[in-house]
Amino acid sequence: MPQRYKTILLFGAPGAGKGTQGKILGYVPGFYHLSCGEVFRTLDSTSDLGRIFVEYSSKGLLVPDEHTVKMWHKNMEARTILSEYKPNVDLLVLDGIPRNANQAKLLDKHINVLLVIHLVCPDKESMIARLRKRALKENRADDAKEDVIRKRWDVYERETFPVLEHYSPKIIREVDATGSPACVLLNVLKHAVPVQDDHFGQRGG
Ligand code: ADP
Repeated sequence: MPQRYKTILLFGAPGAGKGTQGKILGYVPGFYHLSCGEVFRTLDSTSDLGRIFVEYSSKGLLVPDEHTVKMWHKNMEARTILSEYKPNVDLLVLDGIPRNANQAKLLDKHINVLLVIHLVCPDKESMIARLRKRALKENRADDAKEDVIRKRWDVYERETFPVLEHYSPKIIREVDATGSPACVLLNVLKHAVPVQDDHFGQRGG
């Protein structure tokens, strides 16, 4: 079996700030960030997969697992071949995948999950307000409509939340998602840095 990518999962509801935190972490040497939703959004919308993505995401639904995992894996291999992502140097930070229990099972072949950072948002309505604001700023069709936002939340609660059960509670850390991005970052780093250090850090140097 090829080496599994050493990975941190950023986990949380839509609007919790996975993308924001992932993007910042990705700028830190030794971390490599990949957002599944972002990869989907960069697909050519006239390609077969691009069309499938638009069909599902515009309704707030998940793209079927088979397409998702295949696309994700091909993307990871391409980034590795290009040496953009270096599995021996970088801790992979994934956001937006796995999104249900079946994806978590399928991904076990490819990733060694060392840490799950669960961005917890006790107040659903404030997260939904964040999504509305982002939709205006980033021109995101999936979050522009109230019913689509609420559908995305339903899907999260029903399909995505149970993903946590797939991983040992020993590697799951909760971080309050409601603070400022800098405050959330501080807490994310508190958990992520020791893991990066343990597995990739240069000691005694
Ligand atoms: P969020 O705002 O929750 O971070 P994303 O940008 O991750 O949303 O995802 C946008 C859309 O892309 C999802 O609603 C879904 O249709 C599709 N998508 C992203 N990741 C996955 C995945 N792992 N499995 C299935 N569909 C996905």
